[in-house]
Amino acid sequence: MKNIVIFGAPGSGKGTQSDNLIKHYGLFHISTGDVLRDHIKRGTELGQTAKGYIDQGQLIPDDLMISILAQVLDDNRDAAQQGVIFDGFPRTIAQAQALEQLLADRGTAIDAVVGLEVPQDELIKRILLRGKMSGRADDNEETAGKRLEVYHKQTSPLKDYYEQQGKYHAIDGMGTIEEIFDRIREQLD
Ligand code: ATP
Ligand code: MG
Repeated sequence: MKNIVIFGAPGSGKGTQSDNLIKHYGLFHISTGDVLRDHIKRGTELGQTAKGYIDQGQLIPDDLMISILAQVLDDNRDAAQQGVIFDGFPRTIAQAQALEQLLADRGTAIDAVVGLEVPQDELIKRILLRGKMSGRADDNEETAGKRLEVYHKQTSPLKDYYEQQGKYHAIDGMGTIEEIFDRIREQLD
C-alpha cells in the first residue's frame, strides 16, 4: 500500500499526473479542488462557502478543509485501503499535521511526496490556457496571480517540511506528460 501526496503550484500538472498514477499503481484519487468544485456545481451550502474563497484565489480555512478531507476518507474507507493519491491537500503546514494524524489514526502514513517543479511563467501560461479550454472560473489572469501568491506564502513551506522527513521527491515538471510521468515512476519505483 502506498499513500502519495502530489504537490506543486497551481497549474503544475497535479491532476494530469494523478490520472497516470491511478492507472499505473491502482491508487484512490482524492482531489480537494475537484471535491469543492463538485459541491459548487451541486449548489450545496459548503459549495457556496467554498466559492467565496476560490473566486478570490484564497484557500478554504484549514478547519473546514480538514473536516472535508476526513469525511472523504471515511466515506471511501475500503477504496482508500489500497493507497491514496492526495492531490491539492495538504496546502498548509496545519493541513499536513492534520493529515499525519488522520492517517496515523487509520494505521497508515504518507510514503512519498512528489513535487512537480515548474517555472512561474509556464504556470501562468498553463492556467490561462486551461481557463480558455474548460471555462474554470478561477483560471483567469487576476485570480491566477493571487493563487500563485498564496501558494508561495502558505503552501511552498511544505517542501521543506517534507524534505526534513526525507519524503520529498523533486520532479522536473517541464516536458511532455509522458516524460514527466517517467520521471515520477523512476522516483517511486
Ligand atoms: P492543479 O495543479 O491541478 O492545476 P490548482 O491548484 O490549480 O491545481 P485545485 O487544487 O483544483 O487547483 O484547487 C482550486 C481551489 O480550491 C484553490 O485555489 C483553493 O481555493 C481551493 N482548495 C483546494 N484544495 C484546498 C486545500 N487543501 N486547502 C484550502 N483550499 C483548497
Ligand atoms: Mg487540480
